[in-house]
This record gives sequence, structure tokens and C-alpha cells, in this order.
Amino acid sequence: MNIKYLPHAIIGALVMLELLSLAGAGSAVPWAILFHGQIILRAMGWYFAAQLGFGLLGLLIFRGVIPDGECSICTKDLKSFIPVYGPPVLCPRCGTWFHENCFKGKMKKCPICFPPDEGGPKIPLDFRDYFSQR
Ligand SMILES: [Zn+2]
Ligand SMILES: [Zn+2]
Repeated sequence: MNIKYLPHAIIGALVMLELLSLAGAGSAVPWAILFHGQIILRAMGWYFAAQLGFGLLGLLIFRGVIPDGECSICTKDLKSFIPVYGPPVLCPRCGTWFHENCFKGKMKKCPICFPPDEGGPKIPLDFRDYFSQR
């Protein structure tokens, strides 16, 4: 699941639990539906409870894994600019975090592994060492 939709999934699940409890169990307590006598209502309740659990777990992992810091391309905060620049992506070569959209804007080339002024691998023009070995 995309990280962007995790808060929506959590809030949606909470709202559904609350509505089910209100309508099915006649209680304002959102987890009342989980102990309802009717198996179908109870199953629906547990379905949304599971969604809530996974959503919270995903958010916790996300918060724990992504370090506090800034994107090395746009120099803006990694976490707070996710709605604007996309979810963080990790360079597999140097382990630097970037926003997804910033990374795409650089043609998916990490500016740390591929500094812009070098423009890719250089072709050696000096062959003297090569010939002197012969
Ligand atoms: Zn960025
Ligand atoms: Zn890199």
C-alpha cells in the first residue's frame, strides 16, 4: 500500500468501526461491534479493525525507518514535504534519501553517485600508460 494513503485507511477504518458500532451495537464505543452477537457484523468489525491495525503498523514502520532530515535534491524536509514531492526513496548505491518526484526529476540518477558536472563515466583520453606496458 502506498504510504500516502495510510492516514486515509486509518481514519476510514476508525469511522467505519464507529458507524458499525453505532448502527449495529447501539454503542458509541468503536470496538463494541467486535463483540457483537451477529457473526456478519462481528466479521465486518474485525475486518476494519485489521485495516486499522495494519495502517497504524505501517505508519509506525514508516516513521521509524525514514530518518529525520532533508532531501538531498530539493533540500526540503523529507517527511513534511511528502504531499508535495512524493514519498521518500532510497538510493540503493549510497543510501541517501530523496523525494520520489525529486529523484524522477534527476532522471533517477542520484546526484551524489552521479555528480551533475561530471556527466557520467569519463573515457580516458591518455593511452600512453596502455602503450608503454607493451
Ligand atoms: Zn526533494
Ligand atoms: Zn546515490
